[in-house]
Amino acid sequence: MRDQSISIAQRISGPFKWFVALAFFVVFLIVFLGYSFFQALSENQLESRNEFLAKQVEFASRDIQKTFRSMDQDMVFFVENLEAWTYERTSNEQLAFEKRARRIFNNHRNLVDSIIVVFPNHVLSFHFDKGNNFVRTFHSGLEEIPLNHGNEIRFKSQKNNLQIITKVNTNRFLSSELSNFYLGASAEKLVYIDGKLLGFSEMNLSPGFILDDLSLEKITNDIREGIKGEYEGEFNNSLTGKNYRAVIHQYPFDFHPFDKDFAVIFIQDKKLITSGIYVTYISLFSGLLLLLIFVIAILFQFNRNTQVANKILSQKADEINELFRRQTFLLQESKGFIYFQDAKGEMTSVGKEVEGVLGYQQKEFIKNFKDKISPNYIQELNLLIDESIKNLKEVIAFEFEIQKKNGDWIRVKIFEKLLYDEKGAFLGNVGILTDIQEKYLAEQELIKSENRLRAVLKSLPDIIFIYNNSGIFLDYYIQDQSVLFSPAPESLGKSILEVLPTPLNTHFMGFFEKTVQTGKIQTAEFEIMTKLGKKMFETRLFKLDDDRVMSIARDITGQKLWEKGLKDAIKAADQANKAKSEFLANMSHEIRTPLNGLLGIIGLFENTPLTKDQKDFIQIIKDSGDSLSKIINDILDYSKIEAGMMELKMSVFHFKDEIQKIIKVFSGLSIKKDIELTYQYEGLIPTFIELDKEKIDQILYNLIGNALKFTPQGGKIHVLITGEPFLESNIILHFDIKDSGIGIPKDKLQILARPFVQVDGSNTREFTGTGLGLAISKNFIELMGGELKVDSEENVGSTFSFNILGKIFTKESLIISVKSFAGNTPDLDWKNMAAKYPLKILLVEDNAINLQFMQMLMNQLGYDIEIAKDGYEAIEKVEKSPLDLIFMDIQMPRLNGLKATQIIRKKAGGEAFKIVGLSANAFQEDIAEALASGMNEYLTKPVKIPEIAKVIQSCFFELKKTKGVI
Ligand code: ADP
Repeated sequence: MRDQSISIAQRISGPFKWFVALAFFVVFLIVFLGYSFFQALSENQLESRNEFLAKQVEFASRDIQKTFRSMDQDMVFFVENLEAWTYERTSNEQLAFEKRARRIFNNHRNLVDSIIVVFPNHVLSFHFDKGNNFVRTFHSGLEEIPLNHGNEIRFKSQKNNLQIITKVNTNRFLSSELSNFYLGASAEKLVYIDGKLLGFSEMNLSPGFILDDLSLEKITNDIREGIKGEYEGEFNNSLTGKNYRAVIHQYPFDFHPFDKDFAVIFIQDKKLITSGIYVTYISLFSGLLLLLIFVIAILFQFNRNTQVANKILSQKADEINELFRRQTFLLQESKGFIYFQDAKGEMTSVGKEVEGVLGYQQKEFIKNFKDKISPNYIQELNLLIDESIKNLKEVIAFEFEIQKKNGDWIRVKIFEKLLYDEKGAFLGNVGILTDIQEKYLAEQELIKSENRLRAVLKSLPDIIFIYNNSGIFLDYYIQDQSVLFSPAPESLGKSILEVLPTPLNTHFMGFFEKTVQTGKIQTAEFEIMTKLGKKMFETRLFKLDDDRVMSIARDITGQKLWEKGLKDAIKAADQANKAKSEFLANMSHEIRTPLNGLLGIIGLFENTPLTKDQKDFIQIIKDSGDSLSKIINDILDYSKIEAGMMELKMSVFHFKDEIQKIIKVFSGLSIKKDIELTYQYEGLIPTFIELDKEKIDQILYNLIGNALKFTPQGGKIHVLITGEPFLESNIILHFDIKDSGIGIPKDKLQILARPFVQVDGSNTREFTGTGLGLAISKNFIELMGGELKVDSEENVGSTFSFNILGKIFTKESLIISVKSFAGNTPDLDWKNMAAKYPLKILLVEDNAINLQFMQMLMNQLGYDIEIAKDGYEAIEKVEKSPLDLIFMDIQMPRLNGLKATQIIRKKAGGEAFKIVGLSANAFQEDIAEALASGMNEYLTKPVKIPEIAKVIQSCFFELKKTKGVI
């Protein structure tokens, strides 16, 4: 559109500029022509005026001269015809003489004042008096008559001595003569008489007219020469005070016998010659110019109007073109065409788009269109048209099926405008037919899918409501209406706030409004008291479309109950598990305590003189005790794992030495069972590795132990350890324990590592065990970042593999670790302990067996110890006698070891003792608790002699260091 308007503006501004330029040019041309024409005209005027003046001056001059001459001739004739006796002879003659005088007088009245006839004897004069009477006067002599010798002309007779003297008035004569000429108001009539200028004014000649010297000189010269002339000069009329540049015309004449220079001079104000024409011309020209400007302005306006009109026209044309283009486009896009029908329903014309829409030629369609309409609709259509015409309806729309040229039937829609005359008679119609086949099919599909949706919604067990955006119920799909507050049909048209009870309604409305505002699905749970009791509903609210919201409510009462039951069950299981762990821990403690005493005493018993049989029996008791101890340890380990309390205790150790030690442990058994136990290293195995040594040991003891257990006599066991450096200072250690044993059935492989699982679970089973070894090993391996894998074939053998990540020790760090490693293994001569490390020791123990064992143990070490049976006794002992070291049982009646330690530590000097806790509880938190109460160390029962010895030794060195003396 923008481009278009620019182009229109450009179209206008081009000619417009030219038009203005042309207008200016025309005005200029006209002014120029007007001026030139004026110039020519005024010159012409001047010329013709000059001509006129020249002629007039000549006429005047000639007239004057002629009249004067005739008077002269008359006088000459008069005088020549006079006789001396004329007047004396007869009265008739006298009369004739007088008549003649009178006639001359009459002829030259303006010139002649009086005529004096000089007879020899008398003088006779004639003149007219004031009353215009002709008066004749006799004079005795000429002397009587006053003569001034200026204005008389004397005529003397040639034949006698008679004389006539004529008194003339030249002034009157000339002015009378000049009065015959009319030159116009702007001209002056002058008479030149011997260098003087006399002007004609009121039938008289008067002075007061001055010409510039130069002109006057020229004129004087010309007159003297007797030449007429035309001049230009400055003229001043002192009578009127006018002063102007004048054109001057002069014509000399002769007044003989007056010997003077005479001329008639006509003077005309030069300006005034043209001023008349100037004013007329200017006003005419101005008028014309104004007319021209007016015409140009009108033309201009007309042009502008035309341009504006053109512009509007062009815009309108563009708009119409655009409209046509759009209409065509619209028709093409909407697959439609326009048609016209007359009052009879015959088609008069149809748009060419018909071919694109239906495939028919225009003419063909006009002729046969009625046959193409599906017969199913004809009647309905005709009825509609008839009804509409009857009711003077202006527009109608109708859908029907029509057959295309190619035979296809399509759905079309017509939209017709019906036309009527003023009287309401139907004139015909104009209509648009559009192909709506695709839309129709889509609609049909939508209806089908809506029906399907409806069917689905109807079959859903949920409670479905549809609302408008204000929360008014519009529709519902509900199977079981028994849970509703009121029958669903009654809620239609009502709002949520009306239908639902308070406070549920406001609560629900809150979610509803949020759904409308955010357009996001909202989920809410509601507890509702229904006729059937309390029920839980989960409701989802979402926008169905722009105007509607749908809620789907589902009865989740059952689900909730189930969830609650599950939660309770989990809680119960957790509690049971905890109880199990606690039970395991307690049981192991309870078993450990007597076992501790048993093994301790056996240990002591070994050192007494015994017979061979006794020694054998003791060995059996010891072995049984050890395996019982192992079982308890396993159970304890497992319950620790279960409780998530197992932690890694890292230490640096000589890897190959440790492996060798483990293999050595099993060598006795392997020889006994005639099993070939071999081991091998591959890859890079560093000398020192940082790992949880005890756990590695335990894993290997379990796996190699199992291999030995489940491999029959003459079998083979091979342990392969592969090292693979990883990153800078790490190593992946891969272990394979391969046996040629009984193998494991495939279906048992998966569950093997579960606790308490044994392949042969029968009472009559051949192999002993708890079924915990693999479970513990698997957990340890996973704790160290590895994985346990089992590969086995029944009656062929099994391979247990795992890999773990360790840390390689460099040479520098190795020195330190080797030192600490060496320092960590005390090699004590515990039989002379008391002599070497003299200390005052208190044993706090409530259990009689343990007490006995500890007493015996301490005696063997050479110490005489103090004894307390509970916490209170311990405190008493501390107060009474000086002590260095206290072995304190944790679980005791009255006051337990932890509390007793706290009290002792608070007493004066209570800091000085070394307190070592003793307990069958080996959980980490037990140790932590003991240390927190103020104990220095913690030993788990059954206590081993080397452990006790080590504690005593370090206590001695520490006290020596702090106290200096012992
Ligand atoms: P235990 O050996 O104390 O019964 P384990 O957890 O160590 O418990 O082993 C569980 C079971 O896995 C064993 O009872 C045995 O049936 C099977 N098993 C373990 N190692 C082997 C092996 N090397 N060859 C065959 N069976 C094995």
